[in-house]
Amino acid sequence: MISSSSPTQPKDLVVEVPESSAAEVAAAFEAARTAQKAWASGPAAARATALAAAADAVAGAADELAELAVREVGKPLGEAKGEVARSVAILRYYAQQVFDPIGAVHEPSAQGLLFTRRRPLGVAGLITPWNFPLAIPLWKAAPALAFGNAVVLKPAPEATACALRLAELVAPCLPDGLLAVVPGDADAGQAVVAAADVVSFTGSVAAGNAVAVAATKRGVAVQAEMGGQNPAIVLPDADLDAAARQVAAAAFGFAGQKCTATKRVVVVGDAEVAADFRGRLVAAAEAMVVGDPAEADVTVGPVIDEAARDRVVATAEDAVRSGGRVLTGGSAPDRDGWFVAPTLVEGVPADHTLACDEVFGPICLLQAAADLDEAIALANAVPHGLAAAVYTRDLATSLDAAQRLEAGLVKVNAPTSGVDFYLPFGGEKASSIGAREQGKAAQEFYTTTHTITVAPA
Ligand code: NAD
Repeated sequence: MISSSSPTQPKDLVVEVPESSAAEVAAAFEAARTAQKAWASGPAAARATALAAAADAVAGAADELAELAVREVGKPLGEAKGEVARSVAILRYYAQQVFDPIGAVHEPSAQGLLFTRRRPLGVAGLITPWNFPLAIPLWKAAPALAFGNAVVLKPAPEATACALRLAELVAPCLPDGLLAVVPGDADAGQAVVAAADVVSFTGSVAAGNAVAVAATKRGVAVQAEMGGQNPAIVLPDADLDAAARQVAAAAFGFAGQKCTATKRVVVVGDAEVAADFRGRLVAAAEAMVVGDPAEADVTVGPVIDEAARDRVVATAEDAVRSGGRVLTGGSAPDRDGWFVAPTLVEGVPADHTLACDEVFGPICLLQAAADLDEAIALANAVPHGLAAAVYTRDLATSLDAAQRLEAGLVKVNAPTSGVDFYLPFGGEKASSIGAREQGKAAQEFYTTTHTITVAPA
């Protein structure tokens, strides 16, 4: 069985469904393959109408979906509402993109007319994490469908109810069999990779690497968006109060469980600057409201499960054993649910987990650098390269930093977290494999190019 329970009230069982067997996954692909042929050969306007209807269906259930995300994954209500609004926007955006050109006409050769045309790949296998239980499935499914593919979605077990409810709303707007959800864990994910014509994965680095290897062995296109260890660099000329508030929100909002959450803060300057910013950041962290994510003013809900909570607390304890200091947080409040106080640490060795790996929870490392060069070296000294932020009032410094930071997303005077759905999204180094997601990049990923030569008869 696949089940999820609320991280806020662990006795609250949200859903329990049978796990999809390999045969059931294969049957979903077979039905999708049949539906895809008619979908791809039908008019683009029909696809636009269907995706717009899906957007309306999701918008019509906005409150219910937001409440379900709050209950199932502990997302604070304000963020959950934002995720639903973004989901609607994604569907509307791709409903229009079906009308984009799908190729180009080139100068004729000696043989004759030359043009390219993009065609769908078939059935897209989508494997998604639990932390954006609505938007991530849709930012993969909407472009896949828009450009003529069918979709089989394998959601994270922890977000099964969100995925099933989303499919109940969206699937009736589409031809039968075109979109299916197969609940399950890694085994069902592997069955999806074994059957798909194109694979889009989001999740941890280890699972993404395994998925990419398996898909590549089959010769199918794959993209994997994975974890981050995202730095924010704060220069002394920045608006330090605004920087502290934004860094705290990016590090601890939704209990630090975003791939783009700030995991390290590098403060540039002497000991006085470092002490000043440390004080502001601790105050901003302590001002975050921890509690029931259904309450409107709460910004830090629980982490997803007991193991995640224990990992954050153990990492803070290990930081102290390694010579570091916990500046705030570091413990789990004595209450129901998997809560951890926003935790800020400094002074750990360069090879400590907090300086190198993603700890998916509300824990962040404060580091110091003498100048921008040292700050950028620290920022880049991790295997990941998803998002980075730099806070400064100086335009030349911000452009220089943006050029040198090894991250797919660079923000200036803005938090590492938060992305616009119509721009390419993805990371560098260990954070990503394959093409960018979202925006115009998606058309290329979910289609293949045919080069056509037409000579006179
Ligand atoms: P996870 O890797 O544990 O699981 C992700 C999905 O992969 C789930 O559906 C899971 O069942 C499936 N899976 C796991 N092993 C598999 C395998 N061997 N073969 C096929 N499928 C497999 O990740 P999670 O805990 O659900 O999500 C948290 C992680 O996701 C964090 O590392 C976070 O940074 C990352 N994330 C990245 C992005 C991004 O766009 N870069 C966005 C959100 C989350």
